[in-house]
Amino acid sequence: MDQKMHELIERVQDAELVLVGLGEAFQYDWSALVQDTRYQEIEREIGGNEEYIWIIPFLQKMILQKVRAERWDVAYAALNNLLKDKNYFIVSLCMDDYIYGADFDETRIVTPCGGFRKMQCNKNCSQELSEIPQESLDEVVQYYKKDLPLEALKEPRCSVCGEKLRFNQLGVDKYAEEGYLEKWSHYTKWLQGTVNKKLCILELGVGLEYPTVIRFPFEKIVFYNQKAFLYRVHPALFQLGEEIADRGLGIKENPVDFLIKGFVK
Ligand SMILES: [Zn+2]
Repeated sequence: MDQKMHELIERVQDAELVLVGLGEAFQYDWSALVQDTRYQEIEREIGGNEEYIWIIPFLQKMILQKVRAERWDVAYAALNNLLKDKNYFIVSLCMDDYIYGADFDETRIVTPCGGFRKMQCNKNCSQELSEIPQESLDEVVQYYKKDLPLEALKEPRCSVCGEKLRFNQLGVDKYAEEGYLEKWSHYTKWLQGTVNKKLCILELGVGLEYPTVIRFPFEKIVFYNQKAFLYRVHPALFQLGEEIADRGLGIKENPVDFLIKGFVK
């Protein structure tokens, strides 16, 4: 373990509070799906056919249930170990839900981009989330296994207005923020408690896709809190602004590798 990692661990141990941001570069890369030959076949079969495009996220859900990519498991375990016994909060832009199977305290996690755990009406007509219809998931799995023809699949619909039912995540016509707002308010309360406290911030793989969720607010926190220190780990966008350069460190690395290499002996 190098000096930089020693210092990081010391800073985390020494901090009263630890804030973690996980960004786009931390997201699961879907390798188990894109390299799968049956999936490639399905992509060709569906093509750009609007009628069947809904199947793709169901296949993603299927693969998330089937495969726990070891690389991410190891990285999350390392992060969990680093944070144990600390007063922490994690904001994650990842939509792969991996974090929810990684033994963290779920009351200390918010995922504002959503994921694959609930569904919503594409138009969010009722402002309510719904469970994933098991029969739809089963049918997609059967189709994947070639036990059911494509034409037999029926897209699930909103029980209120009949619109498309979609996973509660960014990208739907009208994103149902109901899926995360309560956790977000816990987060903002937690943040209020960091004022003038010794705060260590780990920003892992946060780029500029949604900079107003993690990147810019974290910079602002460090700017105002003289006792804060920011670690920014990113393969390309690791730079820190001049105003906070003396209270932070940019590390040019893939954030998943960073955790695996740094903390796993
Ligand atoms: Zn509806």
